[in-house]
Amino acid sequence: MPELPEVETVARGLREVLPGRRVLSVRLGKTDFIDDPAALEQDLPGSTFARIRRLGKYLLLDLEPRKTPAEQTSLLIHLGMTGKLSVCPPETPVPLHTHVFLALDDGRELRYNDVRRFGRMALLANGAHERVLGGLGLEPLEISEGEFRTRIQARKSRIKAVLLNQAVVRGIGNIYADESLWRARIHPEKIGARLKDDELRRLHRAVQHILREAIRLRGSSVSDYVDLDGGRGEFQQKHRAYQRDGKKCARCAAIIRRIIVAGRSSHFCPQCQPAPPKRRKPRKVAKQRSRKRALRSRSKAKR
Ligand SMILES: [Zn+2]
Repeated sequence: MPELPEVETVARGLREVLPGRRVLSVRLGKTDFIDDPAALEQDLPGSTFARIRRLGKYLLLDLEPRKTPAEQTSLLIHLGMTGKLSVCPPETPVPLHTHVFLALDDGRELRYNDVRRFGRMALLANGAHERVLGGLGLEPLEISEGEFRTRIQARKSRIKAVLLNQAVVRGIGNIYADESLWRARIHPEKIGARLKDDELRRLHRAVQHILREAIRLRGSSVSDYVDLDGGRGEFQQKHRAYQRDGKKCARCAAIIRRIIVAGRSSHFCPQCQPAPPKRRKPRKVAKQRSRKRALRSRSKAKR
C-alpha cells in the first residue's frame, strides 16, 4: 500500500511532466472510486495543471483558475492499495484495470490503474478541500518535536495505532510505523500517553529519518508499487522490522516477532523494543474469559 514516501515519489514524477499541461478529454472505465464521475468528465477538459501537492497519502493536482483568480480547483487522487499513475503515449498498450484516461495537450495520456479500486479520485472545487482534507493531521516531515510529543502524549491508544491515525500525523502506514518504532526502540503496544520525553524524541527523529531515507530510495516496493515510470522503489532492502518476522534483528540478533496491534500486523524486536509492563486485567474481562473457557470445554466434551 503506498505510504508517504511512495506517494511523494509519484508526486515528484508528476511535477516533472504535468504543470502547464492542458487536459483535452477524459475517458473513464469503472467509476466506483470516483466521487462524482460526471463532474470529472464535464469540468476537467480545458483545464491546465498548475502545482502538484502531496498531503499525507493524498495527491492534489491543482488546476489553473479558469474564472476568478481566487477559485481553487484540484484533482484529488488517493492511490488506495493498488493505485498507479502513468504518463505515456496513447498507443502504449493498456494494462487491465486502467480506469481513467486524461488526454493531454502534448499528445500523451495520464492514466490511472487500480486493480482493487480502494483508491479515490475527486474534483475538488469551491471549498471542498477543507471538507475532504480538513481532518488530516500534520505532515510528519514538518512537525516539530514539541508538537509531535504533545499530539502523541494526548492519546491513550497504543503507539502503533497513534502513528497510523491520519488525524495525528498524516502519511504513515504499516511499513513506516514498524520501521520507525524499531529504530526508536519502542514496543508497538506502548500507550502513547505513557511514552517518556526521551522516547518521543527518539521516535520523532526516527520517523523523519526513515521517511527521508525512503523518499531518497523512491519508496518500498513490497507488493506491486511502482513509480510514474514503472520503476520499483528500493527501500524494502533497508527494512529492519517490517515483514522480517523469524529473521534476526539487525541490531541485537534476537528474532523479530509479529503480533497484531490495532488490527494490523506489527513487526518488532522483543529485545530492543521491550514490552510495556502488563497491567492487571479488570475483573469483568477475567469473568468473560472463564465463561469462554467453560463453553470451550463443553463443546470439546460434545465432540
Ligand atoms: Zn533487536
